[in-house]
Amino acid sequence: MLSVEEARDLILSHARLTEPEEVPLVDAAGRVPATFAITAQVDVPPFANSSMDGFAIRAADAPGDLRLVGEVAAGMSALLTVEPGTAVRIMTGAPLPPGADAVVPVEVADEVAPGLVRLPAARPGAWVRARGHDTHRGDEIELAHEPLSPATIAVLASLGIGQVAVRRRPVVAILSTGDELVAPGHQLAAGQIHDANSVSLAAAVVEAGGEARILPRAPDQPDATEAALRDGAADADLLVASGGVSVGRRDHVRAAIERLGELDFWRIAVQPGKPLAFGSIGGRPVIGLPGNPVSALVTFELFVRILLRGMLGLPGDGRPHLVARLDERIEKDRERRAYLRVVLRSGRDGWDASPAGGQGSAQLRALAAANALLVVPEGAPAAEAGARYDAILLRGAS
Ligand code: AMP
Ligand code: MG
Repeated sequence: MLSVEEARDLILSHARLTEPEEVPLVDAAGRVPATFAITAQVDVPPFANSSMDGFAIRAADAPGDLRLVGEVAAGMSALLTVEPGTAVRIMTGAPLPPGADAVVPVEVADEVAPGLVRLPAARPGAWVRARGHDTHRGDEIELAHEPLSPATIAVLASLGIGQVAVRRRPVVAILSTGDELVAPGHQLAAGQIHDANSVSLAAAVVEAGGEARILPRAPDQPDATEAALRDGAADADLLVASGGVSVGRRDHVRAAIERLGELDFWRIAVQPGKPLAFGSIGGRPVIGLPGNPVSALVTFELFVRILLRGMLGLPGDGRPHLVARLDERIEKDRERRAYLRVVLRSGRDGWDASPAGGQGSAQLRALAAANALLVVPEGAPAAEAGARYDAILLRGAS
């Protein structure tokens, strides 16, 4: 059996970057920039402006009564000059008029007579946003190594960038295998169950930044499995199959990968998910995940997510890693590293973890209720109450 790290290293060695494509900034949310370093070509803001509605003045003139000589609003360009003893009414975002070096907010000003405003003292630069206050032309801006956030999109917009080069989303073909599977929304006959993995893995692909293509389910027959894998790998960056990967008489995925291409490994010391096939068909990576729906999603999290991120140029799994104290003993397989489904809550001295429900690999509801996976090392027969373990945060915790 391979360790989790050995399996990950081997999988990551197959991560080929997808090519860049240009998209309008408005479509760039959640996309991964093709380059993380940009040089600002402009100052932001491009001119000194007021951060308040108020009066533009010479600071040396305040306190005192100043004569109002006009008004400047956001978007105006032809400006009055602020001469000694005068003030110009100014709106937020309006360019600071020549001569002025401060703004006094309207809230502290007093219009004592028409055209006359009484102002308290002001320091030079008060309520003025200098040219380049946010960014100077020539600044090197390092973007977060993550999909573009709303704030980063705003930075690019403020720099005047209307198109951005992003990585093409890796196309992931998803193949569920099993004679017992029926699409959700359809009636079950005796012996059948609903196919959870096609849709759950497609959702996980999208969450990781890929594009999911669900293939028609493959029956448990060698030829059909082989044809489905061959066709599925043909026009995808990655093929993710589930089920049929173990040692049962009806498990054909592993043998089919071997016939069609190369099989690198098929057992990892991980719980859930020991049987996992990784290989390539026609140079394209192929992963056969276990069929149990919890195992399929947990092994996707551990082994497929990092590969998709690698194809996008992103490091690691993109998840916060914390340490949490478990409040209840949970048994596990001694030989394998366990990823237990837990709920993390912030406790008195750090994070507390409780089981999110039954830890069986077909107990989906515990995975859905969990906000973290608790990592319990190989060699231990159980996770112990009161002990601290690493945890991978899957979503928000409070
Ligand atoms: P297998 O790896 O094919 O032996 O499947 C292991 C278990 O997972 C069996 O109980 C299957 O019925 C179940 N299973 C396999 N594929 C799926 C799927 N797509 N959705 C839900 N359960 C599945
Ligand atoms: Mg099966």
